[in-house]
Amino acid sequence: MILTSSLNLEAACRQNWDVIVIGAGPAGAVAALQLARQNLRILLVERKTFPRYKVCGCCLNQRAITALQQIGLGDLLSSAGAVPLTQFRMQYQGRDAVVTLPGGLAVSREVFDTQLVQSAIDAGAEFLQETSAMLVGTSENQTSRTVELCCQGQTAGSASAKIILAADGLGHPSLQNCAGFDMQVAPDSRIGVGAAFTVKDHAAYPAGMIHMAIHRSGYAGLVRVEGENLNLAAAIDRDFIKQCAGPANAVLQILRESGSAILPEMHQCSFKGTLPVTRKTLRPVGDRLFVLGDAAGYLEPFTGEGMANAITEGMAVAQLVPEGLAHWNSTLEQKWLRTHAALTDDRLFWCRWLARLLRSPSAVSWGVRLFHLFPGMARPIVARLNH
Ligand SMILES: Cc1cc2nc3c(=O)[nH]c(=O)nc-3n(C[C@H](O)[C@H](O)[C@H](O)COP(=O)(O)OP(=O)(O)OC[C@H]3O[C@@H](n4cnc5c(N)ncnc54)[C@H](O)[C@@H]3O)c2cc1C
Repeated sequence: MILTSSLNLEAACRQNWDVIVIGAGPAGAVAALQLARQNLRILLVERKTFPRYKVCGCCLNQRAITALQQIGLGDLLSSAGAVPLTQFRMQYQGRDAVVTLPGGLAVSREVFDTQLVQSAIDAGAEFLQETSAMLVGTSENQTSRTVELCCQGQTAGSASAKIILAADGLGHPSLQNCAGFDMQVAPDSRIGVGAAFTVKDHAAYPAGMIHMAIHRSGYAGLVRVEGENLNLAAAIDRDFIKQCAGPANAVLQILRESGSAILPEMHQCSFKGTLPVTRKTLRPVGDRLFVLGDAAGYLEPFTGEGMANAITEGMAVAQLVPEGLAHWNSTLEQKWLRTHAALTDDRLFWCRWLARLLRSPSAVSWGVRLFHLFPGMARPIVARLNH
């Protein structure tokens, strides 16, 4: 499915919007959908052309699936051809352990995100793609905020709304010109690396299995998504990427040393990278502004929490917006800080704990041996992460 903008830039600049949502990933698309359903005037701005590739493991956990069902999007996943996940396989230094998964689906971000945005458009949100939005530093008056809209690197106009949602992913580029939204980036943060390719031989990476190749300098996850496509996503130490002279070599080295199969197609595909992933926006809220999804912070991909967080934050912010439209006040800022913390803090604790363990070669080595012999022991951990 190819998306087209539902209005042009001039029309976007002419209107006074209730809400401008910056970024059409799961956080932005779900927020736009939920707000459009409340008959609000919503502009969803996206800098890329959809469908677009995004570095991601493409696995939706049970929490993400349940959230989508709650907002009436359960069918979207089957129509996207999402592949049910049944097993999780860890491989480290030639040893492996296979654990049964209690649920989950794999779907490419090209297809999933495009369908989410289409749902938001169907609900009445206006969509403007190939346009970067940048929040103007200060409130010009008490009742609205302005974003500059740029096409092909040139400022092409500006649009105003009573509330802005920054859902523009890692590093929140749309807030660059605003003071007070600094990010804390972990000094040992890994970089995300990803690629997607069509494969002929599916023996090594069968459908329904998440394959995780673990290495002292990072890990790479492979999963079959819809069609014949294999998705690869990795989180790798920056020094190791330098040492290997680039992300492609680093990924191949991780696969090789873990004992995972290297397919001929992997030598031809192009790998994309992200900013360092472990980061946090110190205050994900401001005057008439909510920050959500990866724009507010992200830890590490291993536990597959990212999209579930983005979706649930999109749903939660849509419940606060009507109050903000009626009367913006600082209580609302406190409410978002509390809501955001309630949605993420407990999970961050688990993710942080696992991320630390994964950096310890002896812990990984013992973990894989233990789960190889007693796969049932991993079940409570997997269940905890999945819900
Ligand atoms: C290696 C890796 C593997 C991962 N694996 C998984 C996984 O298996 N499961 C899972 O749930 N999560 C996974 N994640 C995390 C997941 O990808 C993110 O948490 C999720 O995409 C966050 O959604 P979002 O909507 O906040 O941001 P994004 O999906 O990043 O969307 C942000 C959007 O904003 C747009 N944008 C940026 N700047 C602007 C601007 N100025 N103006 C307009 N548009 C803009 C971008 O083009 C993008 O489309 C992984 C992440 C990495 C790095």
